[in-house]
Amino acid sequence: MKKVAIYVRESRDDLGLSYETIETQKSLLEKFVEEKNLGAVYKVYEDDNYSGINFERPGIKKLIEDASFGKFDILVAKDLSRLGRSNARTLLFLESVEEYGVRVLTYDGRYDSLRDAETVGIDSWFNERYVIDISRKIRANLRHKIERGEYIGNPPYGYVKSKDVRNKLEVCEEEAFVVREIYKLYLEGYGYKKISEILEEKGIGKKKWNVTQIKRILTSRVYVGDTVQGVSERVSYKSKKTRRLPKSEWVITKNTHEPIIDEETFDKVQKERIKRQKGSGNHKGGLSIFKGLVFCADCNKRMYSRKQTKGADGYTCQTYEKQGRAACSRHFVSESYLSNIVFSDIYMVLSDYVKSNPNCIEELAQINEERDEEINILRNLIESSLRKQKILYYDRLDGRITADMYDSMNLELKSAIERYKDEIDRLERAVENKTESLNLLLKTLKSYKDLSGEVKRKIVKIVVEKITVSESEVCIWYNL
Ligand SMILES: [Zn+2]
Repeated sequence: MKKVAIYVRESRDDLGLSYETIETQKSLLEKFVEEKNLGAVYKVYEDDNYSGINFERPGIKKLIEDASFGKFDILVAKDLSRLGRSNARTLLFLESVEEYGVRVLTYDGRYDSLRDAETVGIDSWFNERYVIDISRKIRANLRHKIERGEYIGNPPYGYVKSKDVRNKLEVCEEEAFVVREIYKLYLEGYGYKKISEILEEKGIGKKKWNVTQIKRILTSRVYVGDTVQGVSERVSYKSKKTRRLPKSEWVITKNTHEPIIDEETFDKVQKERIKRQKGSGNHKGGLSIFKGLVFCADCNKRMYSRKQTKGADGYTCQTYEKQGRAACSRHFVSESYLSNIVFSDIYMVLSDYVKSNPNCIEELAQINEERDEEINILRNLIESSLRKQKILYYDRLDGRITADMYDSMNLELKSAIERYKDEIDRLERAVENKTESLNLLLKTLKSYKDLSGEVKRKIVKIVVEKITVSESEVCIWYNL
């Protein structure tokens, strides 16, 4: 049986980021060795809080010594940057260890000395962007914790984190009572809003309750004792943005903690929720046709779409919603009114356009071509910014610039890249199927009242740039 050495280093590295503990790396790698059937773990070498820039680390020194005596056959690390952050030195290290007949491979699957004997792996490793590398590491690490059923983040209402076991949830009786009350009220027929009012009136639980909190409590599997995580992930390591992952990628670990609600009650509530949603489904479908495109003419802010229980659905100024009438007025415009004027107007504009421009279809094709060129230029700009980022990283690595300077310049490059991407997005959206759509639009628009909300939304996205609403008029700005 082969003897496997594991190397772990905590990465409070040159960027001052700390994203994984020695402990997490160890258990990750032990699992890896077992799953890949590599052999028996001979020893774990570790360097706690040592920079990866040089090789003056007790753990790695001992490792090299043991390798020279042939004490193990395989060396496993999480990735090459664990071994060292300097390109040339890491290369030397790998060469010497491999000379002793040790096979080196990484958990991230990007280096294996058996496969990458010509150091191809190293080149491809180092040519990749450092920033991307970091953000992926966070994800791999988090996922692993989740699979063990650890609860990451703040405990949900009704639970506290255990003082004895890391990331373990324990029932908080005071709050659990409130959770059960919420389930009971819902099954008695009350809606989210009404439940929050009842709780506030009776002074149960928090002082203030909102609809989102009630809904979250009624839908989360955490209350039947499961841990559902990986619902969203961070887009990048510096960004606060998250993206929702498809359900297939969620990690559900059963029975990780004591339930507050029994499975039967939970299922009943979910069925009831679906039933109630269907009941109010009709006007819901119509609402989002202009979402994101309607702006207040006075404060220039995007208007919120509002679904109302009484009266018509529509859009209101977000400044008014947030700061009240002193800041701006309501500017309410109903969905159906907007739909009527916009679609009859689109029809007129389009038929005029086609009449006065018999060659418009060809012209649109021409415009498309020009925009494609613009997009190409933007893509090149992105490429060159990425290259600059890499050079910047090398400069930082070799100490030519300070950490502060690296951070600020890197941020600048990143925001430039974001801007280019946004612009590409905008251009792509504008050209999307426009040519084909034109004729089709004219045909379908004649009977626009029968169009489904979805089709309307598509049409609006193609031809409308934005809609501005003042207290007295509605203006439609076209993409044409
Ligand atoms: Zn406003």
